Amino acid sequence: MASRVGITNGTSSPLNSSRFLSPSKNSSFQTQNGSNSNSASLMTQNKTVLVTGGAGYIGSHTVLQLLLGGFKTVIVDNLDNSSEVAVRRVKELAAEFGKNLNFHKVDLRDKAALEQIFSSTKFDAVIHFAGMKAVGESVQKPLLYYNNNLIGTITLLEVMAAHGCKKLVFSSSATVYGWPKEVPCTEEFPLSAANPYGRTKLTIEEICRDVNRADPDWKIMLLRYFNPVGAHPSGYIGEDPHGIPNNLMPFIQQVAVGRRPALTVFGNDYKTVDGTGVRDYIHVVDLADGHIAALRKLEEADIGCDVYNLGTGKGTSVLEMVRAFEKASGKKIPLVKAGRRPGDAEIVYASTKKAERELKWKAKYGIDEMCRDQWNWASKNPYGYGSPDSTN
Ligand code: NAD
Ligand code: UDP
Repeated sequence: MASRVGITNGTSSPLNSSRFLSPSKNSSFQTQNGSNSNSASLMTQNKTVLVTGGAGYIGSHTVLQLLLGGFKTVIVDNLDNSSEVAVRRVKELAAEFGKNLNFHKVDLRDKAALEQIFSSTKFDAVIHFAGMKAVGESVQKPLLYYNNNLIGTITLLEVMAAHGCKKLVFSSSATVYGWPKEVPCTEEFPLSAANPYGRTKLTIEEICRDVNRADPDWKIMLLRYFNPVGAHPSGYIGEDPHGIPNNLMPFIQQVAVGRRPALTVFGNDYKTVDGTGVRDYIHVVDLADGHIAALRKLEEADIGCDVYNLGTGKGTSVLEMVRAFEKASGKKIPLVKAGRRPGDAEIVYASTKKAERELKWKAKYGIDEMCRDQWNWASKNPYGYGSPDSTN
C-alpha cells in the first residue's frame, strides 16, 4: 500500500538568501533555454517526472534542480539509505516551487503501491536512481542486490509500460568499464562487472536495450556516472551514507569532522602521478544538471536506448583530492597507508565528448569547488541528517 507522506515546512530553514534558489548560473537548463527558476520553460511546464530514489544523495540534488526548472516532481523512495529530512530540505530550498513536490515512502518492488501512484498521476518520464550501491556489501549479499536492484527495476518498467509511460533515465555507473585498458573511457569501451553491484548495472543496461528493441516507443537514457562528490552550495543537502563510508570523499569528510581518526589510502604503487588511484570526480550539482539535459534529449524524436558518460574528463589522485580537501577545510587529514583495495582499477576517467555534443551538457565545477561544497555541508551537518547518537 502506498503511504503518501505529506511534507511540512515545519523545521526552521537556515536559508535566508535567494542565492541558492535558482539553478546554477551555467546550468544546462539555463544555457539552453535562457530561462531561469522564475520562468519555467515551455518544455517543462506541466511536465511531471517520477524520481525513484529521490531522497538519496544524487536523487535529492536532482529533484531540487527539477523543481527549480519548473517540473512537477514525485519521489518514490523506501528510505533504506536516506532520510525524509532530505526531502523536506529540498522542498524548502525550492521555495515557491516546493509545492510541486510529492513524496511516497514506497519500495519499488511493491507493485500494487507503484500501480496506485501511476494510476493517480500521469508521468511524462521517470528518472530511476533507486538501488543499493555498496560494492563490498554486494559481494557479501549478492541475492539482496539482485533482488533489490533487478526486481525493483523490472517492476518499475512493467508498471511504466502498463501506464503508457515509456521515457526513462537510468543511473548506470562507470563501474561497467571494469579496469579500463586505456583512458579516457568512451561509451564504446568493452563492458565488464567485477562484483554483483556492477553486474546489476550491466544487466539493467541490457534489460533496457531489450525493452527498447522489443518496443521502439521506449526512449531510454543510460547515464554512466563517474565519481559524484560535493553538495549543494547551500550546505543544506548532501551525502549521508549509513554506516562506514566506502567511498573516498564521505570518508575524508568524516575524518575532517572528527568521526573517524584517519583515512586509509588504498595502494601507493599504481602507475599514477603519486602512486595512488585516479578517478574522475564530478560535482553532484553538475551531475544533477546532466539529468535535466537527458530529459530534454528524451523529447527528441530519434532517441532509442542511448548511453552517455557523465564525468568531467579529468583524473584526480587520492592524494590530490586529500590536499584539495585540506585546503578547502583548513583541516589536516591524517593518512594511513594500506595495500590496494581488491578489485580497484588504477585510472578511470571519462570521455565527455558524446554528452557535450549530444546532450549539450558539460560539467562546470572543479575539485576546489567540490571540496568547498563538501566541507560546507559537512561542517554544517557533521552527522548528516541524523544526530550524534544515531548508529552511523
Ligand atoms: P543513495 O543510496 O543515496 O540513493 C539511492 C536511494 O534509493 C536511497 O534513497 C534508497 O533509500 C533508495 N532505494 C534503494 N532501494 C530502493 C527500493 N527498492 N525502493 C525504493 N527506494 C529504494 O545513492 P546515490 O549515490 O544517490 O545513487 C543513486 C543511483 O546512482 C544508484 O542507482 C547508484 O547505484 C547510482 N550511482 C551512484 C554512484 C555514487 O558514487 N554515488 C556512482 C554511480 C552510480
Ligand atoms: N580510496 C581510498 N580510501 C578509502 C576509499 C577510497 O584510498 O577509504 C581510494 C580508492 O582506492 C580509489 C579512490 O579512492 O582509488 C576512489 O574510491 P571510491 O570508492 O570513492 O570510488 P571507486 O573506486 O568506486 O571509483
